[in-house]
Amino acid sequence: MSTYWCSQAWLPGGVVAGVRIDIADGIITAVDVGQNPSGTVLSGLVLPGFANGHSHAFHRALRGRTHTDRGSFWTWRERMYALAERLEPDSYYRLARAVYAEMVLAGYTSVAEFHYLHHPGRGQRYADPNEFSHALVAAAADAGIRLTLLDVAYLAGGFGRPTSGVQQRFDDGDADAWARRVESFSPVGELVTVGAAIHSVRAVPVEQLPAIVHAATGRPLHVHLSEQPRENEECLAVHGCTPTQLLASVGALTPNTVAVHATHLTAEDIKALAESWVCLCPSTEADLGDGIGPARRLADAGVRLSLGSDGHSIIDPWFELRALELHERLASGQRGRFESTELLTAATAHAASGWSTVGAIAPGHAADLVCVDTDSPRTAGADATGILYAATASDVTDVMVAGRWSVRDRLHRSVTDIGATLDTEIGALWQ
Ligand code: ZN
Repeated sequence: MSTYWCSQAWLPGGVVAGVRIDIADGIITAVDVGQNPSGTVLSGLVLPGFANGHSHAFHRALRGRTHTDRGSFWTWRERMYALAERLEPDSYYRLARAVYAEMVLAGYTSVAEFHYLHHPGRGQRYADPNEFSHALVAAAADAGIRLTLLDVAYLAGGFGRPTSGVQQRFDDGDADAWARRVESFSPVGELVTVGAAIHSVRAVPVEQLPAIVHAATGRPLHVHLSEQPRENEECLAVHGCTPTQLLASVGALTPNTVAVHATHLTAEDIKALAESWVCLCPSTEADLGDGIGPARRLADAGVRLSLGSDGHSIIDPWFELRALELHERLASGQRGRFESTELLTAATAHAASGWSTVGAIAPGHAADLVCVDTDSPRTAGADATGILYAATASDVTDVMVAGRWSVRDRLHRSVTDIGATLDTEIGALWQ
């Protein structure tokens, strides 16, 4: 057993001083408040580890490279396809390892990888058809982050259109073939779990949806939903209903379902999502000009919220949780739309990705901890809960995942060449 003493820690009831945390086998066994220092002393403020609820690791290679022309979501997608054309399992492993290490440095202790790059293309298959999935599992293990590998079904190039070009790298043919491939994948490791995903109602024909929902029973099921008005318009034209209603009609909206973005919703859509999760990705939604999702209305309807960094134009959980509130302020003209505890709950919603006992500093929960410097040029002077409005990824000093330190004194303990690796790998992809 290991004992840590925090000068301040954010417990389920709020920030408390003098907290002793006992940890055994990666699990918090006791939390005692008002204690004198003992064991390893953790300075600053200690919070539960953050959850990255939506990631496409390779999109990190687009950062700072899509701003020279005005473009749109759809021109951005062309650049993303150019990358997807070039990646191979070994290059994706090297890139993802550095991207996941950047996440851990920022305070994320789990990532839900929405993984759709499966095949060599042109209908070919790798000797092991889960080669890319294995590469991502190895990358996450090296980076010391929990991974939910969401294996994505991507079977169409739009409503009523087959996949073409690079999209064939994503395409298993049909839902049964997708399910067989997912079934044959069983990664080893205590920090990895497998879930399922529907890319979107654009990319999966409606008759294929029930088989995916069935195969996902008991696992997280994520789906991109209504990120762009065009998806809604096309769905209405083809099916006579919104994407949310289409998913509801095939039983795809369960307590394990996470609708990603959910930006453009009707009042009926919000009601239909009440049992499920919505994962907002504020930095990406701003970067792509998607719009501002109805976060407060969703929360008021009982929808559980989580947060993701998605396209990785920024990897910073503090940015995402602040933007959840700040986007609401911009849209509503009101401050204080979310309480600080609500922001932290959304930012630590590991349960949306299948980790039900991660995300709180409490006995029985996993020992995933983040220490943030309260005396940095950015954070000094903020009050304890106000740290959510002051800190950035640069202020994270230490990160523990399942009782083991992945980051100590602002340095990743096993991936020491993050910047250089990103520079090399991203440079090679764009050559
Ligand atoms: Zn996405």
